[in-house]
Amino acid sequence: MALPTSRRDRVIGGNWKMNLELDAALRLAGDLRGKLGSQRGARLLVFPPFPYLFPVLAKLRDSAFEVGAQDVHAKASGAFTSGVSASMVRSLGCTSVLVGHSERRSVFGDTDAIVADKLRAVLGEGLFPVFCIGETLAERQAGRTFDVLARQLTVLEAHAPAALARLVIAYEPVWAIGTGVTATPAQAQEVHAQIRGWVAGHLSAEFAARVPIQYGGSVNGDNAAALLAGPDIDGALVGGASLDVMAFSKIVLAAARP
Ligand code: PEP
Repeated sequence: MALPTSRRDRVIGGNWKMNLELDAALRLAGDLRGKLGSQRGARLLVFPPFPYLFPVLAKLRDSAFEVGAQDVHAKASGAFTSGVSASMVRSLGCTSVLVGHSERRSVFGDTDAIVADKLRAVLGEGLFPVFCIGETLAERQAGRTFDVLARQLTVLEAHAPAALARLVIAYEPVWAIGTGVTATPAQAQEVHAQIRGWVAGHLSAEFAARVPIQYGGSVNGDNAAALLAGPDIDGALVGGASLDVMAFSKIVLAAARP
């Protein structure tokens, strides 16, 4: 069933990664609240480092922002020193978790199997995953982009569309993350349409029509509007530029539906 793109949620996420000390993180949250706290027309998310989740949640309470975690451990509890479970972040008030971010995959060794376990843990706590997928430069140059994405997407097949109701997919080409090199709007739109086609074929056409698909990879205040013009591009997952209130605001304003 086709759904007009204007009916799909726009979702802008700020992934703060391993940046900022407490004072700066709280200043950023306060500035975001001041500038965008009453913003409508797009769902707004921030993903602070774990130690700041609680104070950032307090700063952004009753604002337009939701707060999510950058990762969780797949297990619910137990002897996993340094682990943070989905129930812990849910109990703080987080609504969302990044799952499968390329830095988790490449730096921390999260395999598709680990990503699948984390996805199950996140869904099990009623949190919604921002499920990140993307190909490396070598994979793109070898013409394997969609094969790689299809393999990464396979973990969704273990879940009924109803369980994935609040899923957000983030297409983040690895070669564009933190590099200053952005996919062109045409490249991004082409891949987003392929991802939506995969969801239609493997989950359901109705679900494919409404699942938001974000683009991520060096999005900034200057390129956001062109990227977001793609009919299958429903938002952005933003790393570096999410630490700059002016740049992040420009991205949010480019995304907001009237
Ligand atoms: C990211 O962290 O998901 C990301 C896209 O980073 P950047 O915007 O810095 O490329």
